[in-house]
Amino acid sequence: MHYISTRGAAPVLDFEATMLTGLARDGGLYLPQHVPPMTHAEIAGLAGLSYEEQAYLVMRPFIGDTFSDDEFRTLIDAAYAGFGHPARAPLKQLAPNHFLLELFHGPTLAFKDFAMQLIGQLFQAALGRSGARVTIVGATSGDTGSAAIEAFRGLHNVDVFILYPHGRVSEVQRRQMTTPTDANVHALAVDGDFDTCQALVKDMFNDFTFRDDVRLAGINSINWARVLAQVVYFFSSAVSLGAPHRPVSFTVPTGNFGDIFAGYIARQMGLPIEKLVVATNHNDILHRALSSGGYVTDGVKPSISPSMDIQVSSNFERALFDAYGRDGAAVAQLMEELKQGGGFDISQGALEFLRESFASGRASEGETSATITRTAGATGEVLCPHSAVGVHVAEGQLSHTPMITLATAHPAKFPDAVEAATGARPGLPVRMADLFERPERVTRLPNDLRAVQALIRDRIGA
Ligand SMILES: *Cc1c(COP(=O)(O)O)cnc(C)c1O
Repeated sequence: MHYISTRGAAPVLDFEATMLTGLARDGGLYLPQHVPPMTHAEIAGLAGLSYEEQAYLVMRPFIGDTFSDDEFRTLIDAAYAGFGHPARAPLKQLAPNHFLLELFHGPTLAFKDFAMQLIGQLFQAALGRSGARVTIVGATSGDTGSAAIEAFRGLHNVDVFILYPHGRVSEVQRRQMTTPTDANVHALAVDGDFDTCQALVKDMFNDFTFRDDVRLAGINSINWARVLAQVVYFFSSAVSLGAPHRPVSFTVPTGNFGDIFAGYIARQMGLPIEKLVVATNHNDILHRALSSGGYVTDGVKPSISPSMDIQVSSNFERALFDAYGRDGAAVAQLMEELKQGGGFDISQGALEFLRESFASGRASEGETSATITRTAGATGEVLCPHSAVGVHVAEGQLSHTPMITLATAHPAKFPDAVEAATGARPGLPVRMADLFERPERVTRLPNDLRAVQALIRDRIGA
């Protein structure tokens, strides 16, 4: 299995190197050269299996010979053992033909755990074999960072540095990042927004001296292994509603375009997905781009769904790569325009491709809050604000095909918005009830690449 960069000018890598690298050396993102298809019979054969068995069958063709079959099964089992629900990704019904896929039963209560718990295992196995040590640097709008710290804390061979926007994450998110006591985890509060943090991380990857000195590894959804882990629950949920014999649709609350892109890969593998709907909050650059053809950034506005407060959606580059007929030079050109001028126009042909692949919608703050209120009243299901963005957008897209909306976080992760909408404060699951008593440990940093790099070098002695 070979992986190629969306900008066409980085070395072709195998799965292990792709996973350990994160961002390609030409600034692009890695994708499989060919997406391995699953036959109708193979997809039908997933029905009734455990989540772990489904995960093994869906992901196995992508990993080449990086892990033996037995080892890969063991790593998958270990990854999901800490989840608080035996189904891992249970499906609930909200309304006739509308279903909710609960992806928040992992250790940090957001869907990020599905990928992060797995890549924690995969990194440990791969690095344990080679004896190499890596420095993981990630940017977060809140959930990726807590999931990464939880997945990598205490592991040998790995130091983890997480950059989050100071004052712009929820208290539960912040505490999940700042309270682990393990010496190998470092929470960094940066003055800026998520895009500031993500730009700092990208700049560190593009500084090859630094990158090689500290052996930088990336765990943002630019990392292909994360996207791959998320492909699994599109299959598991679709199969339980009758796929591949009947099609399903998905609505995905979207920020960095990683989760929805996993759905796009599932469809490429052969899963009959009728509609894949991008749901955004008022930071609606993706909805505007798909509607108008212009991808134009205009600053992040804070919202009650902060994990989607993003303007530069990294993984959109992967969709653009396909939309431009896998022309890496064309993608590199668009990304240069974005960096220099804050936007670009999508060509007519590419826009048609994207519109055939994705539908889209947005939810205002008022619509999000009203959806939390209404859904709790009608069904008893308490949605987090991100999931509510999804449910609102999905309600406008219902048809005879079953619609599955992804519930991306537990309501207790965003208690203020949920309490405002329902009048009741959602409680944390018992296993993390003492989160508010644990001492915090965090370093505040300016938006300054040199300062961040100096701190990392100092902490790891490089
Ligand atoms: C990360 C996140 C999203 C957005 O997912 P992307 O893969 O970045 O599009 C949505 N909701 C929650 C709760 C998240 O943590």
